[in-house]
Amino acid sequence: MTELIIDISYKCNSNCKYCQWNSKNSQKKKIDIPFNQVLLSRENLKSFDISRIILSGGEPTLANHLKDIVTYYHRLLLPIRLITNGINLSLKKIKLLTKWGINEFVISIDAISYDTYSTMRANSEKIFQKTLQNIKNLANFHMYHPKIVSYIGLNVVLTSINCNWHIINQILSFARDLKFNQVKFQPVYDDGYLSKNAPELKLTLKNSIELEEIISNIKIKPFELNFTNPLEFWMDLKRHLEGKNLSPRKCFLSNNVILLHKGILKFCFWCQHTRYGPINHSYSHKDVLEIQNKFQNNLEKCRVAPQCFCLQPINHIWS
Ligand code: SF4
Ligand code: SF4
Repeated sequence: MTELIIDISYKCNSNCKYCQWNSKNSQKKKIDIPFNQVLLSRENLKSFDISRIILSGGEPTLANHLKDIVTYYHRLLLPIRLITNGINLSLKKIKLLTKWGINEFVISIDAISYDTYSTMRANSEKIFQKTLQNIKNLANFHMYHPKIVSYIGLNVVLTSINCNWHIINQILSFARDLKFNQVKFQPVYDDGYLSKNAPELKLTLKNSIELEEIISNIKIKPFELNFTNPLEFWMDLKRHLEGKNLSPRKCFLSNNVILLHKGILKFCFWCQHTRYGPINHSYSHKDVLEIQNKFQNNLEKCRVAPQCFCLQPINHIWS
């Protein structure tokens, strides 16, 4: 099963302090991805063995061609997952998006109390409350229409603020009460923007103490399989913050995830040694296997960093 993650817009209406695509910054850049850079041909979808489309960004609900993109992939009978900050996801919007063909939703939120949330996302309390209400509406819709919305998940970016058992447990209980399928945590990473604009949110060695508490709590009370990151994720993160190397050979992306970024098919944003190539090139299945083989054979050239956690599956273990 190979998932195709497509960044369809780098515009955003949220102001996450750690992200270069936040509303203040993206308005300066006004980046929307041209339509012809987001549609992979039917033949290429087959060669790459794509079985799910994941629409991401930026904030994908702001993409100019969202309806046309969704309709295109829906006609090819692929499940479509939308990763959104949830600000625009009213019940009316959910109904519209599902009508077009989206059947899975992941909402990114970093805390469920405004005091904590606002230290990471500089949005008003009104926007925060609206997002929470949208999350509850989505959960309700999922409960009553499981054939229309078959999956709901939360994505949580871990920073020095919310890497704390109390906050993590609050998020997990909230998601469980609303019958979310999954809560995925991923460490914040620094593409230069974080260091410059919100260095206080960086995860550092100091967070090892909180991680120890998280680890001991999860050991006592493990969660159901794949509901959230396993114990090993937290242990790997602690090892990483303590300066220990994690093996790039464990990277799971090879034939599982493909990233479509501004018209180029890649393994991830950061891998410099191997990529597939332009979207408009015609790839045979043999080409794809050869490129994946090359990627696999060169993985030693990578260095595992916080960003490497982001595209791996929820049960991924590095060590
Ligand atoms: S993390 Fe997501 S929601 Fe937040 S500013 Fe970046 S793109 Fe927008
Ligand atoms: S940079 Fe990280 S995520 Fe990307 S291919 Fe290498 S190990 Fe995998």
